[in-house]
Amino acid sequence: MIKREKLRVMKFGGTSVGDAECIRRTAEIIACAAMQRSVVTVVSAMCGVTDRLIQVAKRSATGETSAATELVAALRQSHFATLDSLISDSRSYSRLAAETERLINEASRLCLETARARKLTPRMLDAIASIGERLSARLVAGALCALKQPGVVVDATELIVTNELHAAAEPLMEHTRERARARLLPLLNDGALPVVTGFIGATTGSVLTTLGRGGSDYSATILGAVLDAEEIILWTDVDGILTADPRLISEARTQPRLSYGEAHDLASFGAKSLHPKTLRPVMEVGIPVHIRNSFAAESPGTIITPGGDARESRVKAVVALSEVCLIAVSGERINDLQDKMGKSAGLISGLRASFQPLVKLSTDCEVCFITNKTSARRAVKSLRHALALQMERITINWNIGVVAVIGDGVRDAPEIAARLRLVLESEGIKLITIGHGASKNNISVVVEAEELRRTLVALHREFKLGQHAPAPHVQLTVAAEL
Ligand code: ASP
Ligand code: MG
Repeated sequence: MIKREKLRVMKFGGTSVGDAECIRRTAEIIACAAMQRSVVTVVSAMCGVTDRLIQVAKRSATGETSAATELVAALRQSHFATLDSLISDSRSYSRLAAETERLINEASRLCLETARARKLTPRMLDAIASIGERLSARLVAGALCALKQPGVVVDATELIVTNELHAAAEPLMEHTRERARARLLPLLNDGALPVVTGFIGATTGSVLTTLGRGGSDYSATILGAVLDAEEIILWTDVDGILTADPRLISEARTQPRLSYGEAHDLASFGAKSLHPKTLRPVMEVGIPVHIRNSFAAESPGTIITPGGDARESRVKAVVALSEVCLIAVSGERINDLQDKMGKSAGLISGLRASFQPLVKLSTDCEVCFITNKTSARRAVKSLRHALALQMERITINWNIGVVAVIGDGVRDAPEIAARLRLVLESEGIKLITIGHGASKNNISVVVEAEELRRTLVALHREFKLGQHAPAPHVQLTVAAEL
């Protein structure tokens, strides 16, 4: 039997399977890892493919049949170019070419059906969007076979059982555990290397669903959890999770260790390298999740564990939010407002949808929220209704930016808030407000929009995030293997 300490789940994102050369590199990483452990691979669609599928599905819904024709041409072009370069054995080639053709035709047929009906159901959209992963998984398994490795494609519809919420399906973990183990463990025991389609699942009635955009990370952690994997590696095109967006801060560096809580908050503040739901399945079982760069397999990336790295200074990263605004409700005490909100379940769920990070802290009689600019009006409306507030008691400040400071327990560390205030003061940056959401792992400063960049730079420097961090505790074994 496969033992937990022997199994690794590895997911490769769209750029890591972006063309033949990337797929070859991916297959080499898998082959290398397989020398030491059992490996289950999860793949995304080739980059850009899911976007295109969704776009074409939507165009088809207007009755445009030419969209399907263009789609077929584009999918053929990218997938056959890759196939031609990857597979030289003629038998494997013709088998894979036939499968590729079949899937491309399926996409076309579904789009034409949509065009005929002039209607795109969520179920149909999921079916069309799933084609990218179904194509790429076959290419990756083919590339493994070309390296004389036992790659086997497994469609996640056979493994991940979900509810019926199309485009944002949630796994039913017990069912998934049963199915995934029954299907994958025998393969692993035979020494095979399963390559699973990310992003996809199926309901108990076998209707295909998707887990939401970027959901392949989630697929990997779901499978890691139900297979009791030793570790999960999410291979991407950046060196792990960085201390800040490198486009804004040139000294940003990889944060070698993060806790689940820190990584979760970073993901919910929009860190590109991690889907917000990714850590949910592993939180209870404590499986480490690595984020690594398939284009620089020697660099250790970031490891996310339950406890993170307590040795490092508390603040692990800073995130800038632009395109947000500040809604202030005056004359309300935080506790009263929370009380009212607690009584209104509808409002809470409304808030979840419209309020991005929630900032609740301000003067005694004013409560502030941050929302995306695009949902501000909706947010104000729902606040007004749910709290029976007069309009004049709600104001919106459109000209703001937010920097969120992320680290275990920062919300409850008074010295962090004090440092934030001091830094801004010494930089001459006006602090509009300072606050936090429900999580204890972040605290946000609200400044004028023009000061966003300067604030980010100052805080990144203040918390010494650009300096070289000490080596992580654990040995990162893959780095040594490669
Ligand atoms: N291919 C899907 C998407 O682009 C899922 C993923 O890449 O994780 O959203
Ligand atoms: Mg992707």
